[in-house]
Amino acid sequence: MRQERINRINGILGDGNLDGILITSLENVHYLSEFTGSDAALVMTENKGYFLTDSRYTTQAREEVLGFEIIEYQKKIEGLSNIMNDLGLRSIGFEPQNVTYGTHKELVEKVSGGQFIPINERVKNLRAVKDDEEIGRMKRAIDIASNSLRENIWRITPGTQEREIALELEFSMRRNGTDNIAFDTIVASGERSALPHGKPSEKRINRGDLITIDFGARYRGYYSDETCTFLCGKPNRRQREVYQIVKEAHDRAIASIRPGMKAMEVDSFARNWIREAGYGAYFGHGIGHGVGLAVHENPVIGPESKDVVEERMIFTIEPGIYIPGWGGMRIEDMVLVTEKGCEVLTSLSKEMEVIG
Ligand code: ZN
Ligand code: ZN
Repeated sequence: MRQERINRINGILGDGNLDGILITSLENVHYLSEFTGSDAALVMTENKGYFLTDSRYTTQAREEVLGFEIIEYQKKIEGLSNIMNDLGLRSIGFEPQNVTYGTHKELVEKVSGGQFIPINERVKNLRAVKDDEEIGRMKRAIDIASNSLRENIWRITPGTQEREIALELEFSMRRNGTDNIAFDTIVASGERSALPHGKPSEKRINRGDLITIDFGARYRGYYSDETCTFLCGKPNRRQREVYQIVKEAHDRAIASIRPGMKAMEVDSFARNWIREAGYGAYFGHGIGHGVGLAVHENPVIGPESKDVVEERMIFTIEPGIYIPGWGGMRIEDMVLVTEKGCEVLTSLSKEMEVIG
């Protein structure tokens, strides 16, 4: 059992005057119990944790899950409501983002006297600060991804299809040990690079294209997320200008990071730079997001974020400029917040790279 993680749950129980907490998001189940299967739930009280799953996963759970009482159910809602009734739980915290309206309704009907209290605000930062083991796994995921792109840069050449590049990159990540592909690899070139999340198409790379590649690997549950933008052939003036603005925005945001600062301030260092350069209208998304057992998790690094930067958080810094009809680009690195600043974990160069 991971005592430090269980302590965080006990803190939420105490703060909210809760008798118990129902954990249904798979990432939090994994985080608290180390279970890596794809269906389970936890009922946590101050004294004890209960791990509930069905017969497909009981054997796996007995190997992976330590310190919890393992309960096998046939029907999930029955299983959950039975244990909550047996324990006589009255005020029960739950993750509103992960419980459907139908499930919530059934639980309220079946747990006699039970009140279900949404605890999204308290739970959302549960995984934001990473321990050494998590950092180690994420570094490994980053290595798998970076090495795989390095192996395939030579393919980014006039005449190659975007989807061919994506396929080869994913194949390399598999061979290099990724658990699975973190998310659908993005390869967008030429005018298509104006799509922040362009799906790889049959379009072939042309000389003069900007090519954005956003990709990630996963190692023992933990994700990586990185974006490189390449230039095929000699860049024109505007491409050079846009690249330098995005790179400078990225560098400024990274240089600003200190524990204790507001996440929205990190965002503003990049956003203001892009706005002052006259491209504010072409940068629509937040500057970054936490990464861990999910590709996108807390903290949120954006203009509306209420999160505060803390030591040992890992998040992305990914400014971009996307101009419809012309093209676009993004530069994305992952950083680990340290005592006085941050360490950039991703290792591929973000200097302008001209290929082909
Ligand atoms: Zn990304
Ligand atoms: Zn990202």
